[in-house]
Amino acid sequence: MGRLDGKAAVITGGSQGIGRATVELFIAEGAKVVVADLLASEGEALCDRLGPDCVFCKTDVTVEDQVRNLIEVAVKRFGRIDCLFNNAGILGQTGGIESMEVDRFDRVMASHGRSVMLGMKHVAPYMKQQGFGSIINTGSISGIQAVSAYMDYSAAKAAVIHLTKCVAMELGEFGIRVNSVSPGQIATGMGKTGPDALEKAAVLRELNKTRQPIPRSGMPEDVAFAALYLASDESSFVNGHDLVVDGGLIGGSSWTERQRMSASVHGALQRQA
Ligand code: NAP
Repeated sequence: MGRLDGKAAVITGGSQGIGRATVELFIAEGAKVVVADLLASEGEALCDRLGPDCVFCKTDVTVEDQVRNLIEVAVKRFGRIDCLFNNAGILGQTGGIESMEVDRFDRVMASHGRSVMLGMKHVAPYMKQQGFGSIINTGSISGIQAVSAYMDYSAAKAAVIHLTKCVAMELGEFGIRVNSVSPGQIATGMGKTGPDALEKAAVLRELNKTRQPIPRSGMPEDVAFAALYLASDESSFVNGHDLVVDGGLIGGSSWTERQRMSASVHGALQRQA
């Protein structure tokens, strides 16, 4: 028996990375899934591989008409929407406040903040009518900590996490839960497609190994399992929560790193004495 038997989900950004891992896991757990993404060839190939319970719907999640259409496609095809996973997104820009490109800033804000708002806006009437539903939005630890290197992205993710909590307060009494997942350093090809994405993910898998107390890279599947929990009835009393999936990265330094720091402070104090 699957943990999502009989449920239908919409997953945005599902053609690759975290979204694709979530599509695969949800299908394996018995769900029917509509995959939404700009990347049509990858999304269609994924659905061909996973069978008739997986349908692709090309969607730009920053465009209201397309998001409305996506929700309608899911309802028409499966007759219900148990879960909407608002996961699509793009990288921010580096370079600091003085070199911020305004158009790119607006695109980053739209790809995270506006898209999440639109998804929730258009799924809410259906979920209210059903009297149940789980909305999951992808935040980031960059939305919790200030990341000056990608300040537009960091601010956009903070907005996603806060909007999630606001909407959770509104929709809870209608049987709809709204939560976010905040990944840490996950090895995906974010910002790249095809072979370039695979190459980037492989590089990140190596780089990420020692960045957090759990000494291995975060993988798309780690986030997919968090989304599975939030989509399933196991989390029926969890609402307005931001589930951090980062191997402990924002918790503090790892034991070994802390010992190294303590030893160097101790050494410096001894040299002074
Ligand atoms: P990814 O591999 O690049 O996948 C994201 C997918 O979303 C891509 O297929 C992308 O298509 C699609 N997309 C982007 N803008 C879209 C739009 N307007 N409409 C429809 N689809 C769109 O990235 P990922 O690493 O899996 O990231 C998934 C989510 O996790 C994002 O929200 C990201 O911010 C978040 N996150 C990732 C990490 C990490 O370390 N990887 C950490 C924290 C949070 P294109 O390639 O055509 O843009």
